[in-house]
Amino acid sequence: MPERVDVVVLGMGVGGEELANTLADSGLNVVGIESHLVGGECPYYGCIPTKMMIRADDMVAEGRRIPGFAGESTVNADWTPVARRIRDVATDNWNDRVAVERFERKGGHFVRGAGTLAGPGKVSVNGTTYEASRAIVIATGTSPAVPPIPGLDRVKYWTNREAVKVEQLPESLVILGGGAIGVELAQAFARFGVKVTIIEGMNRVLAMEEPEASAVLGEVLQRDGIELCLNARAKSVEPRGGAAIVMLEDGRQVTGAQLMVATGRRANLRDIGLETVGLDPSVRLLEPDDHLRVGERLWAIGDVTTSGGFTHMAIYHAGIAIDDILGKPGPGADYRAKPRVTFTDPEVGATGLTEEQAKKKGINVRTGIQKASVTSRGWIHGPGNDGFIKVVEDADRGVLVGATTMGPRGGDLLGIFELAIKMQIPSDELRHLIYAYPTFYRGVGEAVRKLGPDQHTPIR
Ligand SMILES: Cc1cc2nc3c(=O)[nH]c(=O)nc-3n(C[C@H](O)[C@H](O)[C@H](O)COP(=O)(O)OP(=O)(O)OC[C@H]3O[C@@H](n4cnc5c(N)ncnc54)[C@H](O)[C@@H]3O)c2cc1C
Repeated sequence: MPERVDVVVLGMGVGGEELANTLADSGLNVVGIESHLVGGECPYYGCIPTKMMIRADDMVAEGRRIPGFAGESTVNADWTPVARRIRDVATDNWNDRVAVERFERKGGHFVRGAGTLAGPGKVSVNGTTYEASRAIVIATGTSPAVPPIPGLDRVKYWTNREAVKVEQLPESLVILGGGAIGVELAQAFARFGVKVTIIEGMNRVLAMEEPEASAVLGEVLQRDGIELCLNARAKSVEPRGGAAIVMLEDGRQVTGAQLMVATGRRANLRDIGLETVGLDPSVRLLEPDDHLRVGERLWAIGDVTTSGGFTHMAIYHAGIAIDDILGKPGPGADYRAKPRVTFTDPEVGATGLTEEQAKKKGINVRTGIQKASVTSRGWIHGPGNDGFIKVVEDADRGVLVGATTMGPRGGDLLGIFELAIKMQIPSDELRHLIYAYPTFYRGVGEAVRKLGPDQHTPIR
């Protein structure tokens, strides 16, 4: 006989934990099922440990910028305190006891195990079936996607999960993939003395962002001593001693004491019984409606959906699904100003559409771009002032549809653009705001004032 409950949450990562805790708090009988660690990828293997690494490498970089500006400096970068902070402070040595207890204190029933959907309204785990009268929420997240490169299985490669646990840095590191995870970790390790090579199949790093951002970042990474192999595809991998050799399709070979795979993510949807609830088990991602529903009393949130990919999206989804499950009327999801940040130095913040995406949608585009280094604050800042603000406008409507904020604290400059895009604030209003002097966000007004039909301002 199935055990009857109100809600079953399958996957207690960022989104699932938020949702399960809130619904348990509101008095519902909630079962939370987690096969690994409550909290998911973000606190244990993603955002938090990688941003701790980045905080450390920023300190190292700033220390090295002192000569000529604030005296002399000698920086002896040491990974030991970084690894210790991640192990002891961020992840409690990859132990989720605190998170489990928090859920249980709210009245939730926690089950450790890999759950599967077992027909409409039912989830099975460890031989028990739960029948949910109110909701089942799929929040199983993603795992690293490892490409089928011949020989890869004979090499001890890292994904982000091993990279955040490393205590002894390798002499050299080859990273497959120049997306957000690849470039963030490349810069962090390089600044601690690792000889890093990035192999990227596209002709630029961070290929999902504006080409200007890729160009600036490519140059910064090379200044950090990182070798970029662009337009390069790995044909095979061979172990050599403890090291790995990557053979590229164009005949080149790249050798590293350590190999890391950062070629994307795969949603954990294959083995969770989607077919038992009438969903296609071979889908890459689930496409919920604007209240995150994927079926009768069935919701999907976070990285398993077409609009996930970030912690803030998983939490945003959770909020909408919570209200829907509790029967509280509320607005549906609105993705027009979905923000994203790559936390390199300089940070690359972006929201809404890139210029190319806007053009593909048939929008009559005008762009404006302002280099960070020519704003007063950027000029004062000196070393580390690489970047720019770029705005993408729908010229027919006179409103912004996208923006990129690359520079020191670039991610924090996104707020005004998120609001402008979502609320459709006329560009003219942004042009006439008072921007405090000398702030980095003053560049917002300068970029908007430069809006023109064909703004191909060379950025370097
Ligand atoms: C290296 C890295 C850095 C990142 N940095 C950032 C960042 O700076 N900012 C940002 O916004 N995002 C970042 N992200 C993305 C962020 O981590 C994810 O978007 C977020 O964790 C998604 O939350 P989720 O709840 O959808 O999935 P997850 O956090 O992946 O949680 C899913 C959970 O479900 C569990 N699970 C899977 N299958 C089952 C099953 N059958 N039964 C029970 N449990 C199951 C998993 O064990 C996991 O704990 C980063 C990701 C990585 C990899």
